[in-house]
Amino acid sequence: MEAGIEEQRGLYQKRIPIFPRSIKGKFRTFKTSMLALAYAVFFGLPWLPWSREGAPSQAVLFDLPHREFFLFNLTIYPQDLITLSLLLFIAAVLLFFVTGLVGRAFCGYFCFQTLWTDFFIFIEKWVQGERPARIRLYKQPWNGEKIVKMALTHGLWLLVAFWTGFTFIAYYAYAPHLFLAFVTGHAAGVAYATVAILTATTYVAAGLAREQVCMYMCPYARFQGVMYEPETLVVSYDIHRGEGANGRAVPHAGLKTREERTALGYGDCVDCGLCVQVCPVGIDIRQGLQYSCISCGLCIDACNTIMDSVGFPRGLVRYDSEIDIESDRPDKPHLSWRRVRTIGYGAAIAIMTSLLIYKLATRSRFVVSVEEIRAPLFDVMPNGDIRDRYQIRVTNKTATAKTYTFSVEGLPPGSLHLGEIPELTVPSGQSLMVQVGVELPHELAEETHEIHFVVTQKGPHGGSIEQHAHYFGERD
Ligand code: SF4
Ligand code: SF4
Repeated sequence: MEAGIEEQRGLYQKRIPIFPRSIKGKFRTFKTSMLALAYAVFFGLPWLPWSREGAPSQAVLFDLPHREFFLFNLTIYPQDLITLSLLLFIAAVLLFFVTGLVGRAFCGYFCFQTLWTDFFIFIEKWVQGERPARIRLYKQPWNGEKIVKMALTHGLWLLVAFWTGFTFIAYYAYAPHLFLAFVTGHAAGVAYATVAILTATTYVAAGLAREQVCMYMCPYARFQGVMYEPETLVVSYDIHRGEGANGRAVPHAGLKTREERTALGYGDCVDCGLCVQVCPVGIDIRQGLQYSCISCGLCIDACNTIMDSVGFPRGLVRYDSEIDIESDRPDKPHLSWRRVRTIGYGAAIAIMTSLLIYKLATRSRFVVSVEEIRAPLFDVMPNGDIRDRYQIRVTNKTATAKTYTFSVEGLPPGSLHLGEIPELTVPSGQSLMVQVGVELPHELAEETHEIHFVVTQKGPHGGSIEQHAHYFGERD
């Protein structure tokens, strides 16, 4: 490579700060509504009380030590996680489905990075003022005003980041007790470490790195392009309308009305730059679709505001398909789902969701496990009968205490010995164990290799579970 011909670029590029301008419009309103909803759910759920027998009264709780996950009235056990892994599959296909329809809309409205960055920008604007004031503050030398405003901004960011970290751990322990323990210094070391790590990462990602996370760290930004089709609705600048034959031009005498502009070959873009100023990732949508665009629609709100003010039709920047944008006679923007890919994704989502609902609705309300006691392998009773012993563990997955009875299939009555406990009552969400013996005459023991235990939950909707176990006896 000849020096001087190719520009040498560093491995790392210095971040150029972005100061997005606020804008009003339907996409801004939608974004703010999603932010409010997401924050209400995330920060509120650990504090939502939920009456539950024999377990903490917290609506959503991931109780790792007891291996129980509570979601309102649903109790999930590790055995159910395979079923719930369907949720991951559904979420992934839903992402592909939505991307095929409306591009990177998930990034613009629902992604954690977007939601937290948006809130951090709200704080920044509240403390430092609108875009021109923030740029002025950034450029001015350090003085009392700058120190106070920057300290307040970063202090509030750290507070939100800390509360984000604490809320995360509040999903893993009874929140009111955890909070008391945390502030009095009695929480587990791992709780302090987790909150410290999450505070730091939230502060850096939403306060300092912001759009760099979307552009350089998020893998979805890199591969989402392959999910786009010509019919996918993406935030687009109508280049034919905006540029005309001679490009854009600021309005001045003789170039104010559409008629004047059309006659002179100029488009509708008045080159105000507002679409760039509001962009949270600092790009110019007029340069075409870019991988760093998060499809937030704020440039649409900005351009519509300008179009209203100059009396031109809205929609110079809009959600539209590549087909329409490139057409001389574009259709009204519309969702186009009649495509092989979107129909395939939709069908996969419908099938997997039905399967998940069916599996959750029909999952057993209790779990049974049987362990053979092998020390000794078997006992020879005084009358010559052979006795094997087993431990049967029953986990009650319902919200109330249940009683269980035990039997064995295909063996003479009285073969099963339950000792003092003819039946077992297990509190809600707990596991209890019972020790049983299976005693068979010598001849029958010789030909019996397997025992079929049946555990039955008493009462309506109880049901039975069968478990097999080896039977060891004296063999010839
Ligand atoms: S170009 Fe428009 S839609 Fe894309 S990120 Fe910027 S403001 Fe949002
Ligand atoms: S907001 Fe609209 S009119 Fe203004 S520069 Fe952007 S595209 Fe052109």
